[in-house]
Amino acid sequence: MNISFDLDDLLINGVKRFEVEKTGLLTRMLTSEQLRLGTSILFKTLRARGHCIYIYTTSLRSPFRIRLLFWAHGLSVDKVFNKTLHDQRIWDLPVTASKYPPMFGIDLHIDDSEGVGIEAEKFGFRTLIIKEQDRHWTATILEAVSEIPVASLLLFSIHASFLF
Ligand SMILES: [Mg+2]
Repeated sequence: MNISFDLDDLLINGVKRFEVEKTGLLTRMLTSEQLRLGTSILFKTLRARGHCIYIYTTSLRSPFRIRLLFWAHGLSVDKVFNKTLHDQRIWDLPVTASKYPPMFGIDLHIDDSEGVGIEAEKFGFRTLIIKEQDRHWTATILEAVSEIPVASLLLFSIHASFLF
């Protein structure tokens, strides 16, 4: 399954504040940004279960900078979509949304924004919105991922292939 993550206020402190992963000197030399505590084990667990990890953000950070942020923490991401790529891709579609994961082949998008949840209902894509007070956010994600039946993914990708 292709799983994408938002960045700000989900994996990186913004308005919402979280405990962060411990970092060494090398990490701090490579990036000034810190990842939310739990990100590392979550990504490693998802990878061990055979999932692909994407980043889908409305920020203008370059894909290189985003990859470097994760690499500095000993993690890799398969694909990165920032606002520039989103704007280029959605231009041709009859969709007005801040995020539209199906156009990037994403099966499940994880975000902190209730607005993205509303867009998901309106445009029919699968998302999981993590609440700020969810202290067990990584367990919430792993549970949601394991509950998605493979058959529904297949149907969804067939449906999406007619759209794009
Ligand atoms: Mg966010």
